Amino acid sequence: MKLFDCHMHCECSTDSIMTVQQAAAQAEKLGIGICVTEHWDYDYPTNPDAFHFDVNEYADNLEKYPDVLCGIEIGMQPHLAEKNRVLALSKNFDFVLCSIHCVKRIDIYEPHYYLGKTKQQVVVEYLTDMLTCIRNHTEIDALAHIDYIARYWKYNEELELSDAADLWDAVFKELAQREIPMEINTRRIELASAVDCYRGLLGRYKELGGKYVTVGSDAHNVNNIGKRIAEAVAIGEELGLTPVYFKQRKKIPVR
Ligand SMILES: [Zn+2]
Ligand SMILES: [Zn+2]
Repeated sequence: MKLFDCHMHCECSTDSIMTVQQAAAQAEKLGIGICVTEHWDYDYPTNPDAFHFDVNEYADNLEKYPDVLCGIEIGMQPHLAEKNRVLALSKNFDFVLCSIHCVKRIDIYEPHYYLGKTKQQVVVEYLTDMLTCIRNHTEIDALAHIDYIARYWKYNEELELSDAADLWDAVFKELAQREIPMEINTRRIELASAVDCYRGLLGRYKELGGKYVTVGSDAHNVNNIGKRIAEAVAIGEELGLTPVYFKQRKKIPVR
């Protein structure tokens, strides 16, 4: 089996300084496949222009690395469906990975987003925006880091199905119907609680007809490339989900 790390950021992402050349060399060293997924977020509340880059330059540069897949991580917000569709189709990307980084036009990295809110209120808002986005965005190859919000909140608890059972089900049904994989993002899975969180959410996704996962480290530096991706593949397979990567926007099983 050749493992694939389908989520990482290189020099076109504002928050990364790793070059594609470095990433390609590391992938070769580790014997894994990689897909670079540079950040693109329209209307980023704290810095509207931070997560844009020259798409042509990016794609041209990646052509020099035939073993590296060319993806993009697009930040979804409910009002951006049309702009994001145009962007996703503007180049021959291998993989369009879609994310929720903002809720109600607030960056959920920001501590002030959580002020005065219970965990349940936050989960409801997060999933309400997520559901709207999944429904109105047509170009989604996989849904990134469903646990993203738990990276930043201070509740000392995990995401749980019981926080918003109906909304979770609606999200998972929409993904399952459209055969959209959920990403297992390896950032947090060194925590046993995060593994349990993924097991709970992915288990429900599977019950509602979900079939696929992608696996991504979300690396912003060389040392994190490929980190824990074998564990993530095992989590998916234990649940009966098929790990895939994308090439020319088509699913390919990892095995
Ligand atoms: Zn992201
Ligand atoms: Zn990312």
